[in-house]
Amino acid sequence: MASVTLEHIYKHFGDFTAVKDQNLEIRDKEFIVLVGPSGCGKSTTLRMIAGLEEISEGTLKIGDKVVNDVAPKDRDIAMVFQNYALYPHMNVYDNMAFGLKLRKFPKDQIDKRVNEAAEILGIEQLLDRKPKQLSGGQRQRVALGRAIVREPKVFLMDEPLSNLDAKLRVQMRTELSKLHDRLQTTMIYVTHDQTEAMTMGDRIVVLKDGVIQQVDDPLTLYNKPENMFVAGFIGSPAMNFMDATIKKEGDIYYIDGNGTFKIRVPEDKEKFITDYDGKEVVFGVRPEDIIDTEITHDFEVKADNSFKAEVEVVEPMGSEIYLYLAENGHSLIARVEAESTAKVGDTIELGVDLRKIHLFDAENEESIF
Ligand code: ATP
Repeated sequence: MASVTLEHIYKHFGDFTAVKDQNLEIRDKEFIVLVGPSGCGKSTTLRMIAGLEEISEGTLKIGDKVVNDVAPKDRDIAMVFQNYALYPHMNVYDNMAFGLKLRKFPKDQIDKRVNEAAEILGIEQLLDRKPKQLSGGQRQRVALGRAIVREPKVFLMDEPLSNLDAKLRVQMRTELSKLHDRLQTTMIYVTHDQTEAMTMGDRIVVLKDGVIQQVDDPLTLYNKPENMFVAGFIGSPAMNFMDATIKKEGDIYYIDGNGTFKIRVPEDKEKFITDYDGKEVVFGVRPEDIIDTEITHDFEVKADNSFKAEVEVVEPMGSEIYLYLAENGHSLIARVEAESTAKVGDTIELGVDLRKIHLFDAENEESIF
């Protein structure tokens, strides 16, 4: 069993706390991604799991065994780094075999494991080459191979694709997912790239300032972010936020953009806001949930499901258009269909898909719905 459990884990560097009270149960065979902006503590967390960094407080378990004081080499894990330093003077075969030779594995077993890993990674033809005769993607595969031959219980990967060009990165993402399916090993993967996290993780751990913000599968993170940080971090372009106040008129609740827009709270969401009448909130809507009402004829424009904004920039993306908009001091982005004829300087009417709107408490930034 190769589950990995973090219980109240802290990391202090002098006065600075890089990791705060992390609790996480990574399941056996799971592909879990740690994601967050630079400096949020992703690498530190991974390095503590690897045993490369001492744990200041808390308990780390691999399977049922507490490993806080177990040396890295005895943890049954393998780590692939961003700068996958291969030995330049050794060929691919020897690079992959090196760790096993050090551990005094018998020659025939080394041979079997290296050949198997090479086959899994599609690098059988490259075993005689030196690293400098390989492309970036091939080198990355060799680095993975070096980890695979050890047959670890847990793979740790720290931004392993960040040195590759954009196209290769997309290709390697798919390959890593397939590799995970094939090896059926627990994988813990660190990235600052939310797209990478969304496409690869069974579950994603979003970190900010050393604190876990939310742990969920990609779709739940996207649809039900627990706070503004997660809402803004997951999704591209990021969710739009607008300051607003909840106002009740008769039996109806509105999200009032302080005089500019007025969006009706859907009836099924009213139960969440009964305590918020008159209170400040933050209205959130994703760029893809804003509708260009000029071209979307099945959207019925009403006073309480739309707003006006001025177009500042039009960015054609081919299959769609990004509109950069100004709405009474708010800067917004809308992803609309390629048919949109909106031009810079136009004031246009935008609809909001009410089933997909978000509301946050302005004070603690937590999700209301
Ligand atoms: P990045 O995406 O930039 O690699 P990260 O999320 O992996 O960032 P960490 O490398 O884990 O972040 O660092 C977390 C915080 O801990 C940072 O503020 C960093 O400056 C600090 N830190 C890391 N290592 C040390 C150290 N050895 N001494 C002091 N502070 C450190």
